[in-house]
Amino acid sequence: MLECQVHGAQDLRVRDVPMPRPGPGEVLVRLGAAGICGSDMHYYFHGRVGQFVIREPLTPGHEASGVVAALGDGVQGLSEGQPIAVNPSRPCGRCPACREGRENLCSQMRFLGSASVFPHMQGIFREYFVMPASQCVPLPAGALTDISLGEIAMSEPLSVALHSANRAGPLMGRRVLITGSGTIGCMMVMAARLAGAAHITVTDVVDHPLSVARQVGADQTVRTDQLPAGATLAGLVGEPDVAFEVSGAPAALSTCLETVRRGGVIVQVGTLPAEGMHLMANQIMARELDLRGSFRFGNVFEQAVAAIARRRVDVRPVLSGQHPLTQAAQAITLARDKTQSMKVQLIAG
Ligand SMILES: [Zn+2]
Ligand SMILES: [Zn+2]
Repeated sequence: MLECQVHGAQDLRVRDVPMPRPGPGEVLVRLGAAGICGSDMHYYFHGRVGQFVIREPLTPGHEASGVVAALGDGVQGLSEGQPIAVNPSRPCGRCPACREGRENLCSQMRFLGSASVFPHMQGIFREYFVMPASQCVPLPAGALTDISLGEIAMSEPLSVALHSANRAGPLMGRRVLITGSGTIGCMMVMAARLAGAAHITVTDVVDHPLSVARQVGADQTVRTDQLPAGATLAGLVGEPDVAFEVSGAPAALSTCLETVRRGGVIVQVGTLPAEGMHLMANQIMARELDLRGSFRFGNVFEQAVAAIARRRVDVRPVLSGQHPLTQAAQAITLARDKTQSMKVQLIAG
């Protein structure tokens, strides 16, 4: 079976390795689809994500669906041939964060396809992988029969958006601004709609992702780089109650801080630069804004699987192509091109 490994910056190797065997409580999964995420691109192009540096060969990937290929001893509730979504989070369950129900903040988190720990947590860019049964989430009753494994693999990015929506508080009847229209921005549109948002504006500086945002339910889209001189976003779209900053661009956070209404909420979802950021901090004080972080996701993964499997949200406009594992490097390069790609996925073969 084939496995992708990143050895360092722009050094990705696909090799043939023996088929793994599931131990007690584990499941052997054949890859259905594996989404290429920003962190996977960083590992491939730079050999690192922020301070997480590759110190041994790393198999990237944390957004997977698959089919149960074999069961280890003692696994119940799953059967061979069954489609599943993979929950990439493995919190410890014992630390203070876990015990207060904030397991995404677990100090011992083991997250698939990550060099945050050593030995690294190996990911799912491989034909088959072994997973604890607890991380294999079956489709719920009422799943549509024509749901694809590509759609199911979007459960992880949808979970990120559902968690961010929860961080914002109630969205029913609220006006929402989303800065950044990539995959997570579009999943954020879906999450805000599920939560009852009355009006959703999405901004970006590229046309293609904004057209996808409109397909998945954005009411209004704006190129912030093309605002007329002297015009403000608030003047154009009104003052939103809640803003989600998804792009990670400092200018977009400034837009959120000056556009959201007095007493409004801003949720930071994207990764901002590590250094050299100018923050309009007095906006937070003088207009009593709540600026909140959102990191990965808490206990929402099953909800995400159910919403996709029943097509309460339709993720298909966000899927822009599938490529075999043998073309992983080309696919990662394609995924980086925002003028044509949204979510690019790898498939087994
Ligand atoms: Zn991801
Ligand atoms: Zn923990």
